[in-house]
Amino acid sequence: NHYEGKSLRLKQQYFFVSATIQSIVRKHRAEYGTLRNFHLKHVIQINDTHPTLAIPELMRILLDEEGYGWEEAWYITTHTVAYTNHTVMAEALERWPQQLIESLLPRIWQILIEISNRYQDALTAYFHGDLSKVAPMAIIWGGEVRMANLCVCACFKVNGVSALHSDILKHDVFHDAYTRTPDKFTNVTNGIDHRRWLAESNPKLDALIQECCGKDKYLLQPEALKNLEKFQDDAGVLSRLGQIKAENKKAFAAWVQRESGIVLNTDAIFDVQVKRLHEYKRQLLNVLHIIYLYQHMKNDPHFDFAPRTYLFGAKAAPGYAVAKRIIRLINSVSDMIAKDPACKDRLQVVFLENYRVSLAEKLMPASELSEQISTAGKEASGTGNMKFMMNGAVTIGTLDGANVEMHQVLGDENIFLFGLKAHEVAELKQKGYKSYEYYVHNPDLRAVVDQLNVGFGDGVAYDDIARRLLFGDGGAADEYLLLADFESYRDAHVRAGLAYQDPKAWNKMSLLNIARSGIFAADRSIRDYAKDIWNVPVREIK
Ligand SMILES: *Cc1c(COP(=O)(O)O)cnc(C)c1O
Repeated sequence: NHYEGKSLRLKQQYFFVSATIQSIVRKHRAEYGTLRNFHLKHVIQINDTHPTLAIPELMRILLDEEGYGWEEAWYITTHTVAYTNHTVMAEALERWPQQLIESLLPRIWQILIEISNRYQDALTAYFHGDLSKVAPMAIIWGGEVRMANLCVCACFKVNGVSALHSDILKHDVFHDAYTRTPDKFTNVTNGIDHRRWLAESNPKLDALIQECCGKDKYLLQPEALKNLEKFQDDAGVLSRLGQIKAENKKAFAAWVQRESGIVLNTDAIFDVQVKRLHEYKRQLLNVLHIIYLYQHMKNDPHFDFAPRTYLFGAKAAPGYAVAKRIIRLINSVSDMIAKDPACKDRLQVVFLENYRVSLAEKLMPASELSEQISTAGKEASGTGNMKFMMNGAVTIGTLDGANVEMHQVLGDENIFLFGLKAHEVAELKQKGYKSYEYYVHNPDLRAVVDQLNVGFGDGVAYDDIARRLLFGDGGAADEYLLLADFESYRDAHVRAGLAYQDPKAWNKMSLLNIARSGIFAADRSIRDYAKDIWNVPVREIK
């Protein structure tokens, strides 16, 4: 959040990019004695905007070290680089202050100016001088260098990381670039390594799958998980699946107790939301619903709901003050519920500290409900959603990111969908979203938001969060539409709770989630890159 931090970050990026390109170039020269065929032998996949300086750095080497002319250097560079976009959040697309690059990287700055000028000329010609199109696409503009626009300009392919996300890139974020160069844009849906996230992390489930689908078969052929479907009505397999989940829950609870002393209720649904803390991921929606459950339970002694153990894990960026307030809120609610005897065996909330891959590897096998509740249109893909699915957790989620493709293979009956769709979010914002209308018309929601002002018995009030939801602290009120989706989210939780009360039906859902998770294996994702972007021959495994 300060100048030193930003300049360190830029130095890191250039250091790694320059070292990498120089290494590739050195090996290429040693083998071919020229860089004229460089683009025929390499693709540099720019993974998010962080390594974007690869573009001017490769240009620098071709121009200054090889002595090529601009046109030839540009041809080689633009036939070498491809760009994967990972977010549609405008504030996450990197923009560097011009004077920072100018002072730190003077030669790179000269090259950037030339790229930017030529691009702007081409755009101005193409759009007949329409500045409303040229300005948002410009690379250097308003004293900043826009890295995503540089990637879109220079790269021969631009991909998003889920079908919905790639569509949003074409029709919204990079719409005008798409109309000019439609063939550049493609999709590669993300994947996860099923050897790490299933075979290694969940050995009991791995053993059951190998029994049902063939020894070692799914390890190199994740599509073989499909064979599990044959057992979807096999009472023996379903009960073993349930037993494995129960054992994994106990093992995870034992670990949590050793680490923190906290005793988890393993008889309750393990309802899990673990991911970076960000407002668009809507951990706060989950908390609002938990506060609702608590209030309802206190007001109505006969309130019947499936007991839940809520598990959160999340890191916040150091400069993201609101995210840290939400973590504090989760802890306040957690303490209140832990101290209230009425919640015993019914409701529990635990914030797991230091969420990281090694914790995720322990947690995924023990999870039953996977919270994937981002505002539709905001989550590029998600990969946590895939890890949960592969470990037999059922998703409660919005039609966002790769959840859309999960829903396509699962059908309505094996996922708990709720909330506005991406196009409905856009329409609601367009016509003018007024969060306080939901607050006024829904007394349950009003009671929840009102308690933020009062607090949760530890002397901390969350009126700042309540204000953000109702009036917006300077920005839009409830920018991520929590109040608009609250009712629908609550309904989805009721459906999930009812489904959990029939173990056989629940285990069948769980089995179908595992069986249909093969398309989310990284092997498939990497094959897509090899075929559609890198033009590398793919060896099929028989
Ligand atoms: C998988 C993973 C993520 C990504 O989770 P999403 O829910 O897709 O945001 C983040 N952090 C860790 C430690 C992970 O293992």
